[in-house]
Amino acid sequence: MLINLMKQCALYKKLKDNKVQCLACNHKCLISQGKTGICGVRKNIKGKLYLLVYGKVVAKHIDPIEKKPLYHFLPETNAYSIGTVGCNFKCKFCQNYDISQFREYYKKVIGEEITPEQIVNDTLKNKCKSISYTYTEPTIFIEFVHDTAKLAKQKALKNILVTNGFMTKKCLDYISPYIDAMNIDLKSFKDKFYTEICSARLKPVLETIKLAYKKKIWIEITTLIIPGENDSKEELEQIAKFIASIDKNIPWHISRFFPTYKMLNKQPTSFESLKKAYEIGKKHLNYVYIGNIPEESPTFCPHCKKEIIKRTGYLIENKLKKDKCPYCGEKIAGIFK
Ligand code: SF4
Repeated sequence: MLINLMKQCALYKKLKDNKVQCLACNHKCLISQGKTGICGVRKNIKGKLYLLVYGKVVAKHIDPIEKKPLYHFLPETNAYSIGTVGCNFKCKFCQNYDISQFREYYKKVIGEEITPEQIVNDTLKNKCKSISYTYTEPTIFIEFVHDTAKLAKQKALKNILVTNGFMTKKCLDYISPYIDAMNIDLKSFKDKFYTEICSARLKPVLETIKLAYKKKIWIEITTLIIPGENDSKEELEQIAKFIASIDKNIPWHISRFFPTYKMLNKQPTSFESLKKAYEIGKKHLNYVYIGNIPEESPTFCPHCKKEIIKRTGYLIENKLKKDKCPYCGEKIAGIFK
């Protein structure tokens, strides 16, 4: 059955001369009749803003939740994961550039047609505990997330955003009643990095992290460590201190970079650099993980220091007793059931 693929956006305002302003992310694009915003999927048609990718999913997989990555949220469960084409960032190191920048290169949208109801039914059928809005940036298709997440919540499923954090406060207010967990990228602590490498800005990302925490959404932070760009001791220290200033129990994922897209001239992140970042993180935070490496990435109890969750790839050995350390009884931050 064909679905009406265009839906009027909820987050925008009408301006004079048939112009509109999108209010989903902090670009707050001013869009003239017939044009789209920076993300390429929100279009002004006769003075109204439409979402071109509503019900058009370009990637759909059942992933271990650890792949998001979320290590302290329903471990050992699967997340039904979806994404559409388009993105509000233009990261030169994007690992999904074939779908995130698709609209820019091909000037069209593609994807399998699917309704929120079908997604929720599929999630239940496949015994997934959550739906993850991921692969590209969910902010740009937030109305589709909203309708799906609302239905999912009625069926006792959890909803997860994997996001660059550039959404507006209005957008987070709109979606947060249905969102249980977020993995938010904090790509750098320098505004220059965000402007020159991602075509975005740092400050709104910091604001989203603080606000999501305040709204009691479970959050984990990811930083891809790129040699020569964001791997100085000072910058890593700033990131770790910023996270700790909110809560030292927020997990920080340090991820290994591999050359891709417009950053083919770089080397992969060295193990020394990842280790340095890990040690800096551990000075300030209780839970630090290295990702994108074949080695194990265990959770240690912050009190007795014993290994309490063992991870080998996506194979998990969870020794927790509910949410407590089995050795000393320390409560481990997260949502474990
Ligand atoms: S979501 Fe897209 S259209 Fe809206 S402000 Fe961001 S980049 Fe612009």
